[in-house]
Amino acid sequence: MDYKKDFPFFSGDWVYLDSAATAQKPNSVIQCMNEYYKNTCATVHRAIYDPSLKVTEQYEEARGVIANFLSCACEEIIFCKGTTDGINLIANSFAKAFLKEGDTILLTEMEHHSNLVPWQLLAKEKNLKLKFIPVKEDKTLDLSAPDLFKDVKLLAITHISNVTGVENPIKEICGKARSLGVKVLVDGAQAVAHRKVDVKDLHCDFYIFSGHKIYGPTGIGVIYGKKELLTKMPPVTGGGDMIDSVFFTHSTYQEPPLRFESGTPPIAEVLGLKVAIEYVLSIGYEKIMAHEKALYKYLLQKLSPIETLTPFSSNESSSIFSFSVDGVHPLDLATFLNGKKIAIRTGHLCAQPLLRKFDKTSLCRVSFGIYNTFEDIDAFVACLSETLLVMQ
Ligand code: PMP
Repeated sequence: MDYKKDFPFFSGDWVYLDSAATAQKPNSVIQCMNEYYKNTCATVHRAIYDPSLKVTEQYEEARGVIANFLSCACEEIIFCKGTTDGINLIANSFAKAFLKEGDTILLTEMEHHSNLVPWQLLAKEKNLKLKFIPVKEDKTLDLSAPDLFKDVKLLAITHISNVTGVENPIKEICGKARSLGVKVLVDGAQAVAHRKVDVKDLHCDFYIFSGHKIYGPTGIGVIYGKKELLTKMPPVTGGGDMIDSVFFTHSTYQEPPLRFESGTPPIAEVLGLKVAIEYVLSIGYEKIMAHEKALYKYLLQKLSPIETLTPFSSNESSSIFSFSVDGVHPLDLATFLNGKKIAIRTGHLCAQPLLRKFDKTSLCRVSFGIYNTFEDIDAFVACLSETLLVMQ
């Protein structure tokens, strides 16, 4: 598979191994956004002149493509700025309106700060309790506690961990939660570029992801919410587009999803996200998963002779590998690799509590996109070995 040719970034000679942070953008996405700014630049939902009508049609068509992509209805798709923004929106609308003092929100110990801090803020404001599903030594969740869901009203859980690459059994967890009347929000930031997601099959209540991790633009994200919940939820931000009638002292609001999309939306980004999703679908998840699995296996094989390297990731991962090396600080390693034009991520990976639990303050992380090749892994491992010779 050679997808690098589709991505202008690779006309430079970088080995890019940080797609879990943000993925590179294919030409088709960049072209589509350029075309909007050059040819049809107008607002949506408000004006009656042709460019605006055309772009409104394209904008709503994009919503349809994304609804299809997740297997839900158009009115269940809300555009937001990204996963962080989407989780904050659900916290400040659904959870603020429907959780009561003393209720418990269940999280896991592997959450990204984006699926932790918004709940801490809300818990403080509303006097809610936070409880955590433990992460085991093998970095998977310990779901064995018989009273796991006791007093829980909402579970907010990542689909795939950005630190370990562990994929949580979301369908099974949603089934259990549903039987106990617990609502489930899934952070899909690390999943959508690597797994086919069907929200009806998962039966989750909310599913949220960022466009920039699935080869789309920054500044755009998607919230799927079950229609029966969205219709009951109050808006969080007020302004243009989200209203029905406005009086001096009060207003009435649009039905979802527009109720949650105040102001002029990120139009070029919505159009770009649609093209990014079409790009992914044109390759197909079967191919993507097989390719990433093969890369992962090759990476583990190539790294196995390095005795001082300790994996932090689980063996079950396929696109994220995090690790530490005895006697070498991750920052020093990343700096050396940067000098050789190899991009990896280092630091707390926005999951300080998880790292702290395992007595770590910093890790190195390699993550794949569809454009990565076996040669990228060869270059990374050669440079890593060279670095270790110098540093250890
Ligand atoms: N959740 C997970 C699991 C992530 O990996 C990330 C991004 N690193 C986020 C949430 C936040 O995404 P964004 O920064 O696009 O809002």
